[in-house]
Amino acid sequence: MDLLEYQGKRYFARFGIPVSPGGVAVTVEEAVARADEAGYPVVIKAQVRVGGRGKAGGIKLAADAAEVRTHATSILGMDIRGHFVRRLWVEHASDIAREYYASFTLDRSAKLHLAMVSARGGVDIEQVAAEDPDAIARLHVDPVEGLTAASARRLVDEARLDPEARDSAVEVLLDLYRCYVQGDADLVEVNPLILTPDARVHALDAKVTLDDSAAFRHPEWEEFRELEGEDPREVLARQKGLQYVGLDGEVGIIANGAGLAMSTCDVVNQVGGSPANFLDIGGGANAEVMANALEVINTDEKVQAIFINIFGGITRGEEVANGIVQALDSVDIRPPIVIRLDGTNAEQGREILKDRESDRFISRSTMLEAARTAVELAGGTVK
Ligand code: GDP
Ligand code: MN
Repeated sequence: MDLLEYQGKRYFARFGIPVSPGGVAVTVEEAVARADEAGYPVVIKAQVRVGGRGKAGGIKLAADAAEVRTHATSILGMDIRGHFVRRLWVEHASDIAREYYASFTLDRSAKLHLAMVSARGGVDIEQVAAEDPDAIARLHVDPVEGLTAASARRLVDEARLDPEARDSAVEVLLDLYRCYVQGDADLVEVNPLILTPDARVHALDAKVTLDDSAAFRHPEWEEFRELEGEDPREVLARQKGLQYVGLDGEVGIIANGAGLAMSTCDVVNQVGGSPANFLDIGGGANAEVMANALEVINTDEKVQAIFINIFGGITRGEEVANGIVQALDSVDIRPPIVIRLDGTNAEQGREILKDRESDRFISRSTMLEAARTAVELAGGTVK
């Protein structure tokens, strides 16, 4: 999950990383109120999950309320590379002496964390990496050992930050590393990390990607999701422990395992249909999980037919069948269902479902046949 800048800054602040005071606004008047609170001059910043907002005109300095009005009016509703601006962050503007770069991310191939620091911040780091790779100091951090003050110091020295910035930069790096590890992030990036004329080091931007697989130990992350404008079906699915991806077609797909779910999407496409979603109920899915999956899909009005594709390994056919029966008994499932059940205890599963079969609940023995039937039932033309 990617955080918006202001959410990332709040995350940073929890770990002691210095950020500017400011507030969120969704209207021009709110922007003026937040600016009055933060103290002029202020900077008005579009909150979208995409970089390069500055270049796109999504970041403006304002010296007074009139300027805040002008800029807030132009930035709200702006389209920044396909991202619609609904929200602004208004913070007290900083004086900038120098712009640096600092980040921690996971280097999967090295199986280590990777720290990067550069004295050439404020510009796209990929560009710096291409033009002047030596301008980026890199350090692999062993997660067991953690980041020591001595290695943070070496990194800052190697990046040739200005001498008066180095002590504070070391502190920021240590806090940023804690934020990255304890905060369960996959990426924390500060670009620019600034040096002010009065020699303070300060995060002017924040990019934080949280590690979704750690969400179970962070109930407080819900606050970030609420604002994400997420697909309500995805929210419902996650609450029920399911992996759901909303798509645009008309065939709802439930499969066990991401691989099977993806190939089911492909087969539906291949026979001339189009998937409405991708729902992986995982390995070892039981009756309750299946009932939940049907409930989630049932909330999607685009779905004209549901295709359940189960290849039982750890997942057992009779459990799946019981879940379907349970769902049919408890929820009024609107679209017709096609099921292909194979693998572990598939026979028993089919036996359980036999009584329920009708023209709205059809069992097919192969994935291809099942896909064709589902596309047909969804009103599509089968190829
Ligand atoms: P990005 O373009 O999406 O990465 O947005 P940033 O938050 O990094 O801002 C882009 C640029 O705007 C920064 O590199 C700064 O040069 C400038 N900027 C942002 N905040 C301030 C501020 O408080 N004062 C000044 N003078 N410039 C700022
Ligand atoms: Mn930036």
